[in-house]
Amino acid sequence: MSAWDTVKTRVKIAVVRRKLLSTRIPEDCEHPLEEWMALKAKETFRKSPDLREAIGARKLDEVGPFEFREYQLHRVREQMRYTEANSIFYKDRYRKAGVAPEDIKAYEDLTKIPLTTPDEMAVDPMHFLCVSMTKTERAFSTTGTSGVRKRVFYTREDLLSKIDIISSALMNVGMQKGEVLHIMFPTVGAWDPSLMMAGACMVAGYGSSSSASVDIEEQMKTIRENNSAYIIGLPSFIYRVTVLAGEKVDLRQLGIKKVICAAEPLSEAMRNTLQEAWGCPVLDVWGMTEFGLACAIECDERNGLHTDEANLLFEVIDPETGEHMPDGERGELIVTSLNAEATPIMRYSTRDLSSLYPPHCDCGTRFNHRIGKPGGRLDLMTKIGLGQKVYPLLFDEALLRFPEVVSYQVLIDRDDYKDTLTFCVEANEGDGVLEEKILDAVLSISEVEDGMKEELLQTPKVRFREPGSKDYVSKAKVIVDRRQNYD
Ligand SMILES: [Zn+2]
Repeated sequence: MSAWDTVKTRVKIAVVRRKLLSTRIPEDCEHPLEEWMALKAKETFRKSPDLREAIGARKLDEVGPFEFREYQLHRVREQMRYTEANSIFYKDRYRKAGVAPEDIKAYEDLTKIPLTTPDEMAVDPMHFLCVSMTKTERAFSTTGTSGVRKRVFYTREDLLSKIDIISSALMNVGMQKGEVLHIMFPTVGAWDPSLMMAGACMVAGYGSSSSASVDIEEQMKTIRENNSAYIIGLPSFIYRVTVLAGEKVDLRQLGIKKVICAAEPLSEAMRNTLQEAWGCPVLDVWGMTEFGLACAIECDERNGLHTDEANLLFEVIDPETGEHMPDGERGELIVTSLNAEATPIMRYSTRDLSSLYPPHCDCGTRFNHRIGKPGGRLDLMTKIGLGQKVYPLLFDEALLRFPEVVSYQVLIDRDDYKDTLTFCVEANEGDGVLEEKILDAVLSISEVEDGMKEELLQTPKVRFREPGSKDYVSKAKVIVDRRQNYD
């Protein structure tokens, strides 16, 4: 890069930085994430007569649960008006459903807006696009876990908004300006989350390092050279690197303050192993490519994930009836974008199971809702036996509690009328003792136990593979269903 280019980049970053609300959060703020949401609501309040009227005030000093909910409903109405005017899909959708922005006065009214499914998004991404192609800066393609290809666009404003939330989330985790985040994602798929994270760090004033190597020495070298204090990455990948390193190295001496796990469900078994190995808290993040990845993050209480409610509205519904579930009860997570410019999505059916917790977390937040740890994606579920539903997180909890296990795959076959589960386990020191421990753990999964009782399931089998003998396998491919003609 020439000196002139460096100057240009610096000026650009300075201009961008001034636009970020996260730069206005005081360094000693106890709840940066919630403070950022309050700033967003206040900014919208100033600009919007509709919101001032809904709140019934001319001034907004304090943002509480009532004010914040009104902010969200206001943004839903605005986003409906915007998509009605600019998206071919939604214009038609609202007309057919007979729903108008004015109908959304309370949270309960949201169910009047029909759900948007991943399949619908895959039909024609252009029908969702609300700006001209020249205004889009990035496009993410995702096949996700459902295998349906979707394309989501981002404008400059969309990307800035994402950088803003990532920055305040990192502050919430405890990062100070100037500290370095080490990014650990494998290089798989069509796009690289590392690039977006590194960009966000640069604009927000954090340093970043990154490595996609499965070699622990290589990872440690990068961490040491950059003096990285925090790690973010894909849990199954961090887990693999950690467990393959085994007893060889002491990761605790690196002095990592926190490990943040993103883009995949984090099982408690995996969390315990990682916390033990790195000697620091391991936090969970939930996100979807459709909404720019970073959507919810745990605080130190590790009791549910704080949601980015300034940009997204979360609901949990009964997937059968579509009704809202009571607080704390599990159902399908439904997400609505509140400020998206390029590809806004209204009431997106995430296929992820979670629950909604009311505000007031033990960490001291006032209005921010949390979601229960998502897990058990509806489209990764497979039925065994008499219809018992199994999914990767269930097996993660059973198998990854043993530190010898690096990774595994479950093959499901059918022998006559009985299902068979074969666990192909990549393990350090796989022997008869470990085999027995794994079998015990698998048999204690109630779904497996029930299938055995009903005599529709054979006794599961365990096969060992040498560690490192197999390439990294993404979560979506953990269960391999080899039965034919089975729903
Ligand atoms: Zn909290």
